[in-house]
Amino acid sequence: MDKKRIPVQEGLFIEADPGTGKSYLIGNKCKKCGLTAFPKTPVCPRCQIQDTMEETKFEGKGTLDSYSIVQAALPGFQQPSIQAYINLDNGPKMWSLVTGCEPTEGSLKLGMKMEMVIDKIRDDEEGNELISYQFKPAGK
Ligand SMILES: [Zn+2]
Repeated sequence: MDKKRIPVQEGLFIEADPGTGKSYLIGNKCKKCGLTAFPKTPVCPRCQIQDTMEETKFEGKGTLDSYSIVQAALPGFQQPSIQAYINLDNGPKMWSLVTGCEPTEGSLKLGMKMEMVIDKIRDDEEGNELISYQFKPAGK
């Protein structure tokens, strides 16, 4: 039986379509004040009024804000792993797992450029691959 690739959650990201080769994060942006959010938030936390948020796509480029190396991961996840906050270009600060580098202090520098990839997080009970967004050092 073929393994399937299953998003961990619907509506978080769009995996690269072969035509453009680009994956996107799906967030939203307030029409009134310009505040951006990821994941989407139904009401702008700044304006606190209905119907100002509209869906927007983020390209998944940003810089490393902070990170921690996690020695004890949830079952099924790789450990140790790196969890980080990324300042998205034209977007909000967001939390992400980091991939594409050794989970050691020397791998990352605050402020370095990071880019989003859609990759496997873990296998589910049926052996399918659960995929989600992760960030890796840009250009690696
Ligand atoms: Zn607003």
